[in-house]
Amino acid sequence: MEKVADYKEIADIIKEKGGDAFKLCYQCGKCDVVCPWNQLTNFSMRKLVREATFGMSEIEGENIWRCTTCGKCPKVCPRDVQQVKSGIAMRRIATEYGVYPASVNPIRAVRSGLSGEGNPFFEERKKRGDWAKDHSVKEFTKDMEILYYPGCYLSYDSRLKKVAIATANILNKAGVNFGILGSKEVCCGESIRKTGDEELFLHLAKENIKTFIDNGVKRILVSSPHCYETFKNEYPEFMVHFEVVHIAQYIFELINNGRLKINNTEYAKKVTYHDPCYLGRHNGIYDEPRNILQKIAGLKLIEMADSKENSLCCGGGGGRIWMDTPKGERFSDLRLDQAAEIEAEVLVTACPYCITNFEDSLLSHKNRETIVIKDITEIIQEAIS
Ligand code: SF4
Repeated sequence: MEKVADYKEIADIIKEKGGDAFKLCYQCGKCDVVCPWNQLTNFSMRKLVREATFGMSEIEGENIWRCTTCGKCPKVCPRDVQQVKSGIAMRRIATEYGVYPASVNPIRAVRSGLSGEGNPFFEERKKRGDWAKDHSVKEFTKDMEILYYPGCYLSYDSRLKKVAIATANILNKAGVNFGILGSKEVCCGESIRKTGDEELFLHLAKENIKTFIDNGVKRILVSSPHCYETFKNEYPEFMVHFEVVHIAQYIFELINNGRLKINNTEYAKKVTYHDPCYLGRHNGIYDEPRNILQKIAGLKLIEMADSKENSLCCGGGGGRIWMDTPKGERFSDLRLDQAAEIEAEVLVTACPYCITNFEDSLLSHKNRETIVIKDITEIIQEAIS
């Protein structure tokens, strides 16, 4: 363990980096009871907060990088310690010292990709809008009703491009006058900020904000709850406000306005919905995804052991999507077990990180022949075609 500073200094640094409430902790341990890590291995947020209080924050080990920012512990903390903020503040200190454990190393490459090409994959920026070719998607102009911002994963990842295409098909079917900004947009910056790289977040956020303003954007449709979180709750730190809507909310709106019609074609499958942390716990959106699924004829919606406010994190938040998590420590494996326990045939969700982690876990899961992973748009696409 490396002692990075004396008590007064570390406390001041954490405060300066945005995490001051840790000093309120009275060590009750409620955060450790709900933390998903403790279903798999040992991780104590209580201990981490205590070490920070005494200036003993370990910056070379794994612990400050474990938190997925799932948002479970702040909901049970009696002292409003705001563990997510305090944890990010500790990462900001570690980031400035430039010390990472091996599992965090991939973030170095991610940072280069984000600063160079505006995406974590090192893909060419000019290809950001290529997924949309041949799918009747126009470039955004200010007379359009909504900007569709697919984000990095849906723009470049081969599995997730299918979700972007499903979204475009749904919007076209409903007659929505929408467009994309393609190579003009960059990563929203949500996850890199959670790894402690505030400078890069500011760079990405400022570029997007300028682009949105220059192009007359007022309403933004997103597929990722992480983009939703940052556009809705973090970009206002720059004194700008865009109306932000997640695709699950927007489909609900389109159906209710009579613009999108669900067929009566039977979808006779047992479907379970996984609440992504940043749609559910962080933003309170639980009902719209379930309501639209329940409109599909024949679909039987069943709930897993942990759902809604208690939803089990997939493990991809807080920048963990880019870190190495060994087999045996993956929350997504546990989530697939929960889906298998209720004999779900389809595990549906509404977040690219969840889909990435679930698809990865499914490869070696005992029920890989009987469960499929889908984004909510992929099911709706089938129900309207
Ligand atoms: Fe401290 Fe809050 Fe955790 Fe209790 S729940 S140990 S007060 S951080």
